Amino acid sequence: AYSMKDKTVALFGLGGSGIATAQAIVAGGAKVIAWDDNPESVSRARNAGIETGDLRQLDWKQFSSFVLSPGVPLTHPRPHWTVDLAKAAGVEIIGDVELFGRERNLIGKNSPFIAITGTNGKSTTTALIAHIIKTSGRDMQLGGNIGTAVMTLQPPADKRFYVVECSSYQIDLAPSINPTAGILLNLTPDHLDRHGTMQHYAEIKERLVAGSETAIIGIDDSYCAAIADRLQRTGKPVLRISKRLAVRDGYFAEGSDLFHAVNGEMTVVASLAGIGSLRGEHNAQNALAAFAACRSVGLSNEEINAGLKTFPGLAHRMEQVAKLGRTLFVNDSKATNADAAAPALSSFPRIYWIAGGLPKEGGIASLSGFFPRIAKAYLIGEAAPQFAATLGEAARYEISGTIDAAVEHAARDAASDGSAEPVVLLSPACASFDQFQNFEKRGEAFRSAVLALAGASAIGG
Ligand code: ADP
Repeated sequence: AYSMKDKTVALFGLGGSGIATAQAIVAGGAKVIAWDDNPESVSRARNAGIETGDLRQLDWKQFSSFVLSPGVPLTHPRPHWTVDLAKAAGVEIIGDVELFGRERNLIGKNSPFIAITGTNGKSTTTALIAHIIKTSGRDMQLGGNIGTAVMTLQPPADKRFYVVECSSYQIDLAPSINPTAGILLNLTPDHLDRHGTMQHYAEIKERLVAGSETAIIGIDDSYCAAIADRLQRTGKPVLRISKRLAVRDGYFAEGSDLFHAVNGEMTVVASLAGIGSLRGEHNAQNALAAFAACRSVGLSNEEINAGLKTFPGLAHRMEQVAKLGRTLFVNDSKATNADAAAPALSSFPRIYWIAGGLPKEGGIASLSGFFPRIAKAYLIGEAAPQFAATLGEAARYEISGTIDAAVEHAARDAASDGSAEPVVLLSPACASFDQFQNFEKRGEAFRSAVLALAGASAIGG
């Protein structure tokens, strides 16, 4: 990271991305002293050739910057001890996205940079934009919160496109972030554990679009609508996105058609009909934001449409695993709470619903509006009795216990369903940790169970 050349930088948090960031800073000609609360991480870093030192024992006057890794509390419930030390010494506190931004300003001003944030849909929108740009044949780097640490990407260069998913935390640690196009998809009260109040959370997210050359903002919730109005008053170019309303300047959806509006003039630019990976109103919001962003970095409507049509979707997010007979099997294992399960439940008319796991506060009471679509529920894990009580008379259910049993029974029942396309949907509205290591493992178990059925039915003719 050349922006730190000849400086001495303190770094805390030596997971994979912390080590990569430390190495990148050193490669740019700076000195790094790194530390972690976990002694194993410290020795791993030392083995990777990184200088380590207990930041409690060192003189902070030598540091020009303090780089903090994701996962270390900056504000809530209380700041980490390193944050207190940095503040007391007047040393700036930044994260890897800020370092990347400075690097780009220094050596790659002409590399288009799209940054994506929001409460929901970040990864889908990020992956979709990356797919569209890559499909158009351009040099594309994908990273941030979605996986690859930004400091391990190829360095900024002319005509190299960056697509970076940003968590609120990363934005909070990126005071001078200035993407070519910044997307704020939506804001709902979630993730408040880390940021305290909704107002603070919204302020952080607003910073990303405020710093962008073009601000792309989903206006279907009141927080984001207010942010769009406020930024426009400051003279910032704002493109509004809506999955419900016609906007004057921006992009909106009507049914599966996507419209572009300029000063109230509208034209159809794409259709999502038949694109299985972008089913549902929530995905219209994601596709609109992707369209707007790709246009603002210079792609043509044709190039964007070619990418939209071939988007494979992300695993575990309304992922269409198989179609056996008339029955569609959908893996939405990422839906770890009721809010996240709502989009999938709203996307299909007749559902054999596999739900449960480690329950979250509030359970599934907020989903009662969807219960009439539930042909039957197959309850698994610790939440099963609680979910059964909530479903009560409103929907048929059984306590299946495991994913395997649930898939088998749901598939059998769906096969005798009279509707055109019954759906067996895993959208658990629960954490997975009672039965699985993580939501990915849960989704894989669902997929294996479905593919086993497919194998059995193929053998049976
Ligand atoms: P994130 O990266 O923000 O967690 P993902 O793209 O991984 O979001 O999607 C997670 C889940 O959130 C999806 O399975 C879907 O149920 C829901 N979702 C996706 N996009 C949106 C959206 N634009 N608005 C509301 N919910 C969404």
